[in-house]
Amino acid sequence: MVDVMNAARLYGARDMRLEQLPVTTPGPGMALVKVRAISVCGSDLHYYREAGIGDSRVGAAAGSSKIEPLVLGHELAGEVVALGSDVPGAHGLHPGTAVAVDPAIACNACEHCLAGHPNICPNVRFAGTPPTDGGLQEYLTWPAHLLYPLPAGMSHETGALLEPLGVGIHALDLAKLRLADTVAVLGAGTIGLLAIRLARLSGAARVFATDLLPARLAAARAFGAHDALDVSREDPVRAIRALTGRRGVDVVIECAGAEQTPGQAVELVRPGGTVVLVGIPSDDRTAFPASQARRKGVTIKLARRMKHVYHRAIALVEAGMIDLSPLVTHRFPLTKTPDAFAALDRGDGIVKVVVEA
Ligand SMILES: [Zn+2]
Ligand SMILES: [Zn+2]
Repeated sequence: MVDVMNAARLYGARDMRLEQLPVTTPGPGMALVKVRAISVCGSDLHYYREAGIGDSRVGAAAGSSKIEPLVLGHELAGEVVALGSDVPGAHGLHPGTAVAVDPAIACNACEHCLAGHPNICPNVRFAGTPPTDGGLQEYLTWPAHLLYPLPAGMSHETGALLEPLGVGIHALDLAKLRLADTVAVLGAGTIGLLAIRLARLSGAARVFATDLLPARLAAARAFGAHDALDVSREDPVRAIRALTGRRGVDVVIECAGAEQTPGQAVELVRPGGTVVLVGIPSDDRTAFPASQARRKGVTIKLARRMKHVYHRAIALVEAGMIDLSPLVTHRFPLTKTPDAFAALDRGDGIVKVVVEA
């Protein structure tokens, strides 16, 4: 077996370096996975641009001047290479099994984990979030119980995209759509596109999407939006209110993380409606007009990752209800990961980048 591998490590804002790291041997309950596909998330881009999200920072170990680089990447699939001891046969893992990797290692012992909410576990470790290295490396050692075998014929690329699909499923679970509801999805990046498709699958009668980029607006239509509104040309609040006879929509799923989108969500939603905030704001602040939110009695929910949705994500794809491959607009080999992030940073028509290893 090989003992060194390539890894893309982030040292600080826009400072990503391809380096060689040792490959570790899996301990009890762990598996060594040969990483095959990693899709790059908006949160990875936040880390790349700002060396952190909120109070989670890359590069600065507390109380030390030593730089601690980080391997980003939490949307990934690969192939089991070796298993440590004590991996139950029930996991169905063998060398060669293609798997999706659930990036969240919850403690399984705290009040919230025991209540079925590992997504809000305060002790969680998450791939590609300090101090836990993620998938942008050739091999990853990961708990075997967090690996989900892929059905025959499912590509590693689709396996990687099950993670954002899971985030979308969780957001829709929070939205509690009813048949024939009207829905606005603000921001047509990956999660927004998935939310559009999932809202249609959930029986939404009309789905509005907003974005700034023509490529994303076209993708929003392809994923099932009835109306895709270019916010650089029209005020989405005015437009959607006009298109709904001034009523507003039943549910808004905010996936942009822009400064103004939570406020738009509150202005767009009907009285008594629900807003689900999924986007991550760059400045770590969320603002909306309090008077409108209060007068309308809006229910605002903040989506935190996902919980126990991998089986449903796999089932949706297997049943042909959602096709994840159109999300991918660009592909790079692992050795070109710094170039992939530089391209994403510039934007230019990219919806989703997949890094192949
Ligand atoms: Zn993600
Ligand atoms: Zn926990």
